[in-house]
Amino acid sequence: IVELRNMEKSFGAVQVLKGVSFTVEKGEVVAIIGQSGSGKSTALRCMDRLETVTGGELFVCGHALHDPKVDLHALRKDVGIVFQSYNLFPHLTVEQNVTMAPRLVQKMSTDAAREVARAVIAKVGLSDKLDAYPEQLSGGQQQRVAIARSLALRPKLMLFDEVTSALDPKLTGEVLRVIEGLAKEGMTMILVTHEMQFARDVADRVIYMRDGIVHEMGGPEILTNPGTPELAEFLAHGY
Ligand code: ATP
Ligand code: MG
Repeated sequence: IVELRNMEKSFGAVQVLKGVSFTVEKGEVVAIIGQSGSGKSTALRCMDRLETVTGGELFVCGHALHDPKVDLHALRKDVGIVFQSYNLFPHLTVEQNVTMAPRLVQKMSTDAAREVARAVIAKVGLSDKLDAYPEQLSGGQQQRVAIARSLALRPKLMLFDEVTSALDPKLTGEVLRVIEGLAKEGMTMILVTHEMQFARDVADRVIYMRDGIVHEMGGPEILTNPGTPELAEFLAHGY
């Protein structure tokens, strides 16, 4: 469902991604870990075409993202992305935030969109907050609304960029449980995370990025038995 072949990304003269290659199969959960500045977010943003690659090939859900003629509208229906900051509309209720995308992107009727919204809001455990406004919710609840909003488009692939790093441990747990539930349902996911225990428990595969390349890749066991001294160092010290 995802295939990266020597993906490169430069910002001006600075090359951030220096040839990243990996594939993700349908139903797989892949965790990306690595030092700050190693290019994790940039790689994820390229996979939703929020950044345009400057080299290599990149196929996501059948869309060739290195092709300038890629159909972005079709891509947005297939790929959901959630960031550390939730970016909910403050003047809209939970339900309105979630119905927005299916109404605008999929041209769904208000009733149909509401039905989809209620189903995905239930999935993230917020059925009692349909009429609440974002400011009335905790950070973890807001993040779960952001996840519901992405799910409302029934994506084939979900991308998560450190979605819990702004949350305290209790709220982090709530959000991770939602992601774990999606994994159990077979959702294909790529998550950039600092939660090593979570990666160990949920990921089918772990990718360690370092300085713009995939330095090590393997099953979750590499988090316990790293194959390279650099990953061992990162796991021990976080840098
Ligand atoms: P973190 O763990 O801190 O989130 P990261 O691995 O996600 O780090 P990226 O955000 O991908 O790292 O950034 C990788 C490098 O690319 C950094 O050196 C950053 O300064 C640079 N970079 C990212 N976005 C841009 C941009 N729009 N313009 C210029 N440089 C950028
Ligand atoms: Mg980042």
